Amino acid sequence: FLLAYDPAKRLGNLNVQLQRELVGVKRAFNLIDHGKLEVSEGTGQLVANAGALEFQDVSFSYKAGVPTISNVSFSVTPGERIAIVGRSGAGKSTIINLIMGMYHPSHGSILIDGTDISTVTLQSLRDSVSYVAQDTFLFSGSIRENVAFGQASATEEDILAALEAAQALDFVLKLPHGLETDVGNNGANLSGGQRQRISIARAFLKNAPILLLDEATSALDGDTEKQLQAALEKLSANKTTITVAHRLSTILSAKKVIVVEAGRIVAVGTHETLQRESDVYRSLFAAHEIV
Ligand code: ADP
Ligand code: MG
Repeated sequence: FLLAYDPAKRLGNLNVQLQRELVGVKRAFNLIDHGKLEVSEGTGQLVANAGALEFQDVSFSYKAGVPTISNVSFSVTPGERIAIVGRSGAGKSTIINLIMGMYHPSHGSILIDGTDISTVTLQSLRDSVSYVAQDTFLFSGSIRENVAFGQASATEEDILAALEAAQALDFVLKLPHGLETDVGNNGANLSGGQRQRISIARAFLKNAPILLLDEATSALDGDTEKQLQAALEKLSANKTTITVAHRLSTILSAKKVIVVEAGRIVAVGTHETLQRESDVYRSLFAAHEIV
């Protein structure tokens, strides 16, 4: 695993904590080798309490002249759970990246609790948003460091409670070195399901009001899958949750489902209404984008 860029050079004089955060986010988003990281940021401090999220006519292109997201508008009320579905390449991850401030919209705005996120610091934005990905990135370091990442004030008790909530405490305590176990490069010493539960524990500890989830297309084995779903269910309780969904069970538990095709919202509804009314939605089952 090679870093194809030099964060210190790119980020210049930003402070070390922010650099580490950005490196982490960049890794988490799998954006290495995908071009430049947008780091311009505002100076305001985002104070997200309720966690309302709104896209107002958002458009975005990675490359000038090639629109990736076009005129996307939707809102999520505090604590509400929505799902985003669409074919591979439709723009789902880009919507998530925009919420994380990885890039700025070329048109329109994204508001959290009424504040345009382009006006606030990346640090304050990321304090308000937790992201749990299908390809979880862990740092080479201990389980303790991986869970407490970005939360310097976390106590031992906090870390253990977060692991327990993520259904990870049992397996961690069985490891010969417990919390001090080195997860290995990219978390290679752990299974996929274990890595993901560590990243869920990180999100529990952070306890941000907005939760972004990116579901895997390929199923894990039955038990692992059940444990993960249970942990995520608990994590998303009372949080504004946006899930890039591939599981029908996730879609059924969402208040509304947004169907994205070629960077545009082409339908919004529940599973039932979409199945009746949206050709694009129905085609996702045939294409195994929803399983
Ligand atoms: P999805 O998550 O729905 O599969 P993405 O948001 O990842 O879709 O991608 C939407 C489109 O943007 C695709 O055509 C993809 O190739 C392109 N794309 C994604 N990331 C980048 C990037 N960093 N640079 C250039 N193009 C990108
Ligand atoms: Mg994606």
